[in-house]
Amino acid sequence: MIGFYVFLIFDRINQIRMLFRDIAGQNIVKEQLLRSVKEGRIGHAQLFAGGEGSGSLLLALAYAQYLNCLSPLADDSCGVCSSCVKAAKLVHPDIHFVFPVIKKEGSKNTPVSDDYIKEYRELLLEHKYFSAQQWFAAISDGRKSGLIYADESSVILRKLSLKNFEAKYKVMIIWLPERMNDTGANKLLKILEEPPASTVFLLVSENPQLLLSTILSRTQLVNIPPIDTDSLTKALSARFDMPESSTRVAARLAKGNYVKAVQNLDATKEQSGFFDMFAMLMRSCYSRKIFDIIKWVEIVAPLTRDKTKAFIDYSIGMLRESYIYNFKQPELVYLTPAEEGFVSKFAVFINDKNIEPMTEGLQLAYAHIEQNGNARIVLFDMAIKMVSMFKA
Ligand SMILES: [Zn+2]
Repeated sequence: MIGFYVFLIFDRINQIRMLFRDIAGQNIVKEQLLRSVKEGRIGHAQLFAGGEGSGSLLLALAYAQYLNCLSPLADDSCGVCSSCVKAAKLVHPDIHFVFPVIKKEGSKNTPVSDDYIKEYRELLLEHKYFSAQQWFAAISDGRKSGLIYADESSVILRKLSLKNFEAKYKVMIIWLPERMNDTGANKLLKILEEPPASTVFLLVSENPQLLLSTILSRTQLVNIPPIDTDSLTKALSARFDMPESSTRVAARLAKGNYVKAVQNLDATKEQSGFFDMFAMLMRSCYSRKIFDIIKWVEIVAPLTRDKTKAFIDYSIGMLRESYIYNFKQPELVYLTPAEEGFVSKFAVFINDKNIEPMTEGLQLAYAHIEQNGNARIVLFDMAIKMVSMFKA
């Protein structure tokens, strides 16, 4: 969670925009949505089904903006008309938001989305992509999960009974409808089936299998796949000041999840320095240079306990990647170019006999560091044992 905020330091996006072209990848979905508008086939209740970090909520927002744009282009909203400006700031009077919320400690009333709309706008405008967990952490201590309470359905019905303020379409964007309880969901059924004229429901779900079958049968499915790796890499490179080699690895490991990719980039930053420390340890151990091992201990021992543990985790991962490298299955190896350069030469030293004892040695050191062991002694002891394992 901390990384989520630290990362903002080199985050380049700050303009307020919610256009199709600002969304990473998803060209097929975008075309499908645009075509439905051009052909006048706009479903009254659509289910945007896509996993975390797929951009499903952003697609719903861009679609809602496009539906109401006063001078739409062939492939996107104009971005400058009065409707677009309000939509982009998430303050359009006919584009409504429903999302899970958390009951305040000691409060008698169950909350509704409007109670948290300010926080929701802030998170969405600032990060664009975020997970349910990140949203819950933004409005609580991060230990509770949110719900869409039954009272929300009454609010929705009331809002939809009002005349459109100015727009062609009144749009109700319900994020994570699977977090709505059955009472609330049942109250919505009738209006989902026969919504008032020019009303569009966009249900943005990460787990559509958890929705009531009666809700599912009343919605038209818009399937949103994970973001393809190239588009995700491009989006990360445009947004963050990091080398393309890092954004590509982060994107590949994230398997199309933008939120995960940003977390991976955070970890990459946190791990800068780990690679050099790992390479130094391995070189000193297999060349049996005790003085180099002592120098290595002097570099690693002063780190904080958490950082040392993260480094040991990283080292276990690197050993595993080196071992796998021997089987020439490059699709299983997730490394930066520098790491891969090292591993390609180092892998021959890692085999069936030593991969396990080496990993166990690192795990033991991890446990001792966690139990407040003296870092110098623990690390030196671990490294000396490793020297003999290279001969195995
Ligand atoms: Zn416009």
